[in-house]
Formats: sequence, structure tokens, C-alpha cells
Amino acid sequence: MKRVYNFSAGPSVLPESVLKKAQEELVCYQDTGMSVMEMSHRSKSYEKIITQAEQLLRELMNIPSNYKVLFLQGGASSQFAMVPLNLFWKSKKADYVNTGVWSKKAIQEAKRYGKIRVVASSEEQNFNHIPELDSTQFDQEADYFYITTNNTIYGTRYTKLPETGQVPLVADMSSNILSEPYDVSKFGIIFAGAQKNMGPAGLTIVIIREDLIGHAMDITPTMFNYKTHADANSMFNTPPTYSIYIAKLVFEWLKEQGGIEAIAEKNKAKAKMIYDYLDQSAVFKGTVESKDRSLMNIPFVLPTEELNATFIKEATQEGLVNLKGHRSVGGMRASIYNAMPIEGVKALVDFMQQFEEKYTSK
Ligand SMILES: *Cc1c(COP(=O)(O)O)cnc(C)c1O
Repeated sequence: MKRVYNFSAGPSVLPESVLKKAQEELVCYQDTGMSVMEMSHRSKSYEKIITQAEQLLRELMNIPSNYKVLFLQGGASSQFAMVPLNLFWKSKKADYVNTGVWSKKAIQEAKRYGKIRVVASSEEQNFNHIPELDSTQFDQEADYFYITTNNTIYGTRYTKLPETGQVPLVADMSSNILSEPYDVSKFGIIFAGAQKNMGPAGLTIVIIREDLIGHAMDITPTMFNYKTHADANSMFNTPPTYSIYIAKLVFEWLKEQGGIEAIAEKNKAKAKMIYDYLDQSAVFKGTVESKDRSLMNIPFVLPTEELNATFIKEATQEGLVNLKGHRSVGGMRASIYNAMPIEGVKALVDFMQQFEEKYTSK
């Protein structure tokens, strides 16, 4: 069967060349005579894979040497608890910006461990923008300041980072890590589930400044303490070995693409094709304020529920799949992560155009 263009928000499209390489190596990895899935995580061959994965990520993101890279499990959702458990060590206060479902979940979870203040929220406008942030309102005593750099469901992204001074900035970067350049030194912690832009589900990457490790609250479970994993180079227990291997292949692919600067240009061009179409269309409408538009997740709607449903159905028949929007926004959402080829975006825009002609000429 022919591969479709998969616009899923996550797990999501992977580079075809990565899948083919994995297929080649699936049964016998290099000269080991076994699959990566069957390998001890403490074997020489596997050690090489995880070490290379880390090196490649460090190179791609230009991660400073005073940051640790951790390969964990539990999804981004576990970080909603790990962040407060590990960072509440002075005031037990934190500032959060509420920009969507994932921020809300993070806020809910953190409230179990300390005093959370929501410094800004776009909830009243159904999260269709990133709220203005006034740094004079930030709590200088907070143990950290929390943002979600890209809001997967609503399709918004920060175009500038909050100035938090000495307060460590923590970012949930699950849906836009590796999509555009970030200065890692501006963050205390960056975390991301792998299944949007890095690889298969099951792997969560945490990039953490070293001085933030080692202050976890007493109640912190061993497995939720960053120090446990930092001290053991992510080998305290069995890491998600196969997901790390695929992520390594994705990092190699990204390097071949010219790295993050180059992919960011491609991502901007891809997103622009869709936004330009939405902006001139008589029937399709984007749902997000232009200034905060995501490069990764693009929600849009047609005038009626019936048309939305027809569009999704007919698009699927054309091999443009998983375009149904999240229930909290409705309509459609096109997730166009790094691995979505420009041909896929072009096919989508062509289809939107045909659809518009067909349904507005009636
Ligand atoms: C998908 C997503 C999550 C949840 O990730 P899990 O790995 O399923 O826990 C959290 N935050 C953001 C921004 C996401 O896109």
C-alpha cells in the first residue's frame, strides 16, 4: 500500500528514510546478529547508540556542557509532576502561563506540591493567542517559571521568550522541539515527549541545567528524581531502548537536512503555504491570531460542522489523513512536523482549493 500524508498531532509522521533504515536493521543490527530490541541496554553496541543519540542532539540544539540530557519514560505528562518535585526547593512557588490543555494539566499537577500562580492566560479566548507577558509581574522568588512553547491543540507558539531573570525558565517543548532554533542557555529545563518531532512514543527527553539537579523534595519517588537519571546516564533502569535508537536515526536525518536552521526555513515555508491559503480563502478560516501562529500545528475551520465532516472524509479518501481537529477547537488541524514533506503540504493546499471551488460554486 502507498504511504499516506499523515497530519496526525502525535504520534506522527516519521521520515520515510528513517523507517527504511530501521527496517533494514530490524532483524540484525549491524554485526550484532540481533535486533536493537533484543539487545541489553548495557551492551557495548547499545551504549554506542545512546551515546551517539545524545551527541547528535547536543550538536543539533547546541546544548551547553553544563546541561544534562536525560532519556526518560512516562511521557511529557510525567514531567508535569517531575518539574515541581525537583525544583521546589526554596520558596515552593512557581509562575505558570496558561496557554492550553497541556499547560492546564501541568498547573493542576504542580498544585499538589507547591503554590502555583497563573501569571497570564488566554483561556477566555479559547487559547487562540499567547497572552502578553509583563516581566514586572513575575515573582522573583519563584523556584521556576513555566511555559508551553508550542500549543499542539490550539496551534499557537511563543515568538519571544519571557524574561525571567534569575528564575529558571521551564519549557514543555513537546510539539516544537527541533523545529526552530532555541538558545538552550535561556532555559533551566526543556522537556519533550518524542512522539511529535523526534521519534516513536515511549521516550521523553529532558534537557536540564546541572545546578537544578539534586534538590528534589523528600517525597520524590526515586524514578522521578532527575538526579537518579543524571547520575546513571539514563541507565538507572532499562531505558526505552528502541525508541532511543529511532530518535538517533531521526537526529541523523535532521543533520543531513542541514540541521535546525535549515529545517526551520523549510518549516516556515510549509506553514506559510497553508496560512497564505487560509488568509485569502472565502470559506476556510484559521483559528489563531496571526502573530502567534504555530509552525507545527495549524487548526482551521469551515463555516459549518457538516462541511468540516465532508472535508475530513474526502481528504482521507485522497490520502490526506488525521486532519480532524481536537474536540476543544473543532474543525480541522494539520500537524506538519519536521518529517512532513513539502509535497504533503502542497497536496493538502491543492485539495483545500479544489474543495473550496467545488463547494462555493454551488
Ligand atoms: C502531546 C503533548 C503532551 C503530552 O505528552 P505525553 O507524552 O502523551 O504525556 C504534553 N505537552 C504537549 C505540548 C504535547 O504536545
